[in-house]
Amino acid sequence: MTSVGLGMPTLPVTATAPRPLGENGLLDTYGRRARDLRVSLTDRCNLRCSYCMPPEGLPWLPGPELLSSAEIVRLVELAVHDLGIDEVRFTGGEPLLRKDLPALVRAASSLRTPDGRRVKTALTTNGIGLDRRAGDLAEAGLDRVTVSLDTLDRSRYQAITQRDRLADVLAGIDAALVAGLTPLKVNSLVVRGVNEGEAVDLVRWACATGVELRIIEHMPLDAHDSWDRSSMVTAAEVLATLRTAFELTPLPGRGSAPAERWEVHERGVRLGTVGVIASVTRPFCGDCDRMRLTADGQVRSCLFSASGTDLRGLIRSGASDEDLAQAWRGNAWAKKAGHGSDDQGFVRPDRPMSAIGG
Ligand code: SAM
Repeated sequence: MTSVGLGMPTLPVTATAPRPLGENGLLDTYGRRARDLRVSLTDRCNLRCSYCMPPEGLPWLPGPELLSSAEIVRLVELAVHDLGIDEVRFTGGEPLLRKDLPALVRAASSLRTPDGRRVKTALTTNGIGLDRRAGDLAEAGLDRVTVSLDTLDRSRYQAITQRDRLADVLAGIDAALVAGLTPLKVNSLVVRGVNEGEAVDLVRWACATGVELRIIEHMPLDAHDSWDRSSMVTAAEVLATLRTAFELTPLPGRGSAPAERWEVHERGVRLGTVGVIASVTRPFCGDCDRMRLTADGQVRSCLFSASGTDLRGLIRSGASDEDLAQAWRGNAWAKKAGHGSDDQGFVRPDRPMSAIGG
């Protein structure tokens, strides 16, 4: 048996082996099993983050092309009951733009896995409007929230997102903490020449606020092809900056989580923890347990998949649950060893992150 290196882990290559008979989960040829389903509810967003989409927005999917509430619930149920999924994260685009979000959360969080476990539910959001909706979402059964926030400076926030909404995001974070949607994570993307000088302040703020900051590398998934390897701030650079202010002690037990985590001390006083998600320079594909469902009903086994499997088309042509499950398992089985976004000759996916689900 040969092995493929993926930056950190190594995987056995069994690509020629047939899918094991009687195996019902979302297994791939490298032995990885998906259990974490990311469900994108819309490709639309109310921000225009410069690293994600152009100021004028994108040609959004027409309403009839989006999965309906009933179609989403059917696929999530199938994933939990028949395919081994036990965690569901709603994302987008901006998932808070979908009016049926509480109903979808209620449906997902009421599901039980075949061995009787409650499905864990989470939301990835820009936080706008969360101050008004956090209580309802918690009541509907939502467990956790991750909020995206790249800066604490109002004018820089406006420059990055093209919207003056920093106060709304901070109010959303406060409301989510009050509603118990914890542990609350805050994802910050660092862009050279924009917010790279803020990492230390963001860590201090996160530790004081009781949220876990995760600093993420910019990936080649923007809609307008602005990504450039040489201008990407790497995880190594972020850590070097943080070490100028803090003592960082690595925390073990990362499992399938994307973030490498450190305990943060400042002059001997423990402040909290920080995570760094080095998707490009230190990919974690070997431990990946994710599967994505786009707002228009494609499943993708990787954020960087060149294309997806169209479950919406199957549903709308009358497919049975078993037909859907077979198509979904086939997509999982074909998952590549790694996303290769830092490799020469990397081919970008056919759509941007906002239209896949972040
Ligand atoms: N609207 C929601 C939000 O803001 O969290 C969910 C979708 S958004 C695409 C999810 C995350 O993707 C955000 O944290 C955003 O910063 C991040 N993101 C967008 N484009 C990215 C890129 N090219 N590389 C890395 N992360 C990106």
